[in-house]
Amino acid sequence: MKVLKFGGTSVGSAARMQKLLDIINPQERQIVVLSAMSGTTNNLVEIGQAYLTNDKAKAASLIAILKDKYEAVIKELLKKPETFEQGKEVIDYHFRLLSSFANDLFTPIEDKIILAQGELLSTTLYHIYLKEIGVPSVLLPALDFMKTDEDSEPIVDHITTELTPLLDKHPDVNLFITQGFICRNAFGEIDNLRRGGSDYTASLIGAGIRSEEVQIWTDIDGMHNNDPRIVSNTKPIAQLSFDEAAELAYFGAKILHPQSVFPAQKYKIPVRLLNTMDPQAAGTLITNTSETDKIKSIAAKDGITAVKIQSSRMLLAHGFLRRVFEVFERYRTSIDMITTSEVAVSLTIDDTTYLGEITTELGAYGSVDIDVNHTIICVVGDFGAEKHGYAARVLEAVKHIPVRMISYGGSDHNMSLLVKTEDKVEVLRSLHSRLF
Ligand code: ADP
Ligand code: ASP
Ligand code: MG
Repeated sequence: MKVLKFGGTSVGSAARMQKLLDIINPQERQIVVLSAMSGTTNNLVEIGQAYLTNDKAKAASLIAILKDKYEAVIKELLKKPETFEQGKEVIDYHFRLLSSFANDLFTPIEDKIILAQGELLSTTLYHIYLKEIGVPSVLLPALDFMKTDEDSEPIVDHITTELTPLLDKHPDVNLFITQGFICRNAFGEIDNLRRGGSDYTASLIGAGIRSEEVQIWTDIDGMHNNDPRIVSNTKPIAQLSFDEAAELAYFGAKILHPQSVFPAQKYKIPVRLLNTMDPQAAGTLITNTSETDKIKSIAAKDGITAVKIQSSRMLLAHGFLRRVFEVFERYRTSIDMITTSEVAVSLTIDDTTYLGEITTELGAYGSVDIDVNHTIICVVGDFGAEKHGYAARVLEAVKHIPVRMISYGGSDHNMSLLVKTEDKVEVLRSLHSRLF
């Protein structure tokens, strides 16, 4: 059984929803994961923000604008009076819920309920549309099988035990529709898998049911060799390994949610990145293998803070790095890059929630310097220990730009540079023109 995920643009209008059956083959048993219509989750974030700041008038006006948009969508999508009425009821229900938060105490728990409405709307409306055109389908509530544990980690076994019986209940149905992004957390509350999380949903479901393939349908023909929003003349990459794709996703290639590769990798399920606007395009195939001896792609991750701890009594004393890392562990702050010298260690973080506390505690071990507004540039390819020349080519391409940190050799497929965010565009373009 395949899992097909369609992103926000792919369900971004009534016309786009109607086109999905050009791609989905209703003769084949499959699970279709839908995102919210494009723009909706951003709108829901704004509505939540308005409630959090107690600006109820702003929340009400944002809700009214979004509701108008959905009413226009069903006018185009649902042509029969009875299905149109059903669509209308669905919209009324979800928007009444959004408005109801004006009367209650508003906490992050309610905020997450708001964020969940986009996927609930898109899947329910699409399900009604399929009913209208006579294509049998079952709507599976993701909240019944997608769950995270106390560490906010999704539980694949829970998907297997909860979703399999739901599928078995409908042996004669081919098409199962479900929501991306949303889940329940360890407390049973409505939660989500973070922004862009529908990719993660698809991969988790793929893992949970040991799917034959996961397809991520989006608005571009696969993973490109550089960020197409910044660099022109980027090209799709035909093949990537799970490790390479994970590295690119983590370091900023927005086409994939950072964690979405891991469940598929664990169960060796091939992932295809495909273009809804051009279904015949080859896209990118992510599997265990990949083309060797090649630089494949460049990605960039903004919002990076560099932390340098300098101490003359440092590295020679064993246990120093452990003590430094323990500080970050205590504050549940993950480290992306590390470089060390005899007298200093530099590392990077992207979550600065506890930077004040971390800086104070590190102060016990040496002097601490903080640099904000940095970007990690990640070059991915096959450069194992026996290969040569790759690092030189990368550094040659950025020789006119100050580089704050370099990380190479951590794995066989990654070289990372830390630069000022103001230099990012130039670094991406210069690497692109010299490496490809
Ligand atoms: P969806 O809504 O379908 O999940 P996203 O907007 O999350 O789509 O991801 C697709 C977008 O990712 C593309 O439109 C493109 O602008 C952006 N993107 C960033 N880096 C890359 C890359 N290396 N390759 C392909 N797309 C990328
Ligand atoms: N709708 C969610 C978001 O915009 C999830 C997704 O599209 O993947 O982040
Ligand atoms: Mg996405």
